[in-house]
Amino acid sequence: MVAKPLKFLQGYPPETLAQVQAMLEGQRIGAWLLQKYPQAHGVRTDRALFDYVQTLKQEYLRGAEPISKVAFDSKLRIVQQALGTHTTVSRVQGAKLKAKREIRIAALFKDCPPEFLRMIVVHELAHLREREHDKAFYQLCTYMEPAYHQLEFEVRLYLTHLDATATRCWGASDAAANTAAMPR
Ligand SMILES: [Zn+2]
Repeated sequence: MVAKPLKFLQGYPPETLAQVQAMLEGQRIGAWLLQKYPQAHGVRTDRALFDYVQTLKQEYLRGAEPISKVAFDSKLRIVQQALGTHTTVSRVQGAKLKAKREIRIAALFKDCPPEFLRMIVVHELAHLREREHDKAFYQLCTYMEPAYHQLEFEVRLYLTHLDATATRCWGASDAAANTAAMPR
């Protein structure tokens, strides 16, 4: 049998991928994640998410440009390289053009452990300073969250699990809506 490539985990070492493949085939990823992270975070609304993002920004990136909007987005598709989106929307205000920063987080992360939400938000906040996924970007991520790389791996593991099973590990209440946010 030829295994499907693990699209969310490209670039990880072959031994890691072999382990993930074995866990996937044994349907063990969900249980493993739940055992490590039994609790979901309690950030339920866009307002609460905005406050959460602002608190982190105040702590680590006080001087970065202000964020105008933060939202959970059920239409957002997770792509390999962007776990959320960071957009700059230009609006004409009177005579001057103002750039507004928006952060959108895929709605499936409404139901996930606090560590995963933090990783996603840290990623998006780092983009306020660094556009590319380069060394400076990841240094900023690990400055805000020392376990960033491990958490990003585990988030990708969760996406791999979701892609294979369409079954959420946390808060399964609107699992059907969730599939719309998944990549094709
Ligand atoms: Zn990014």
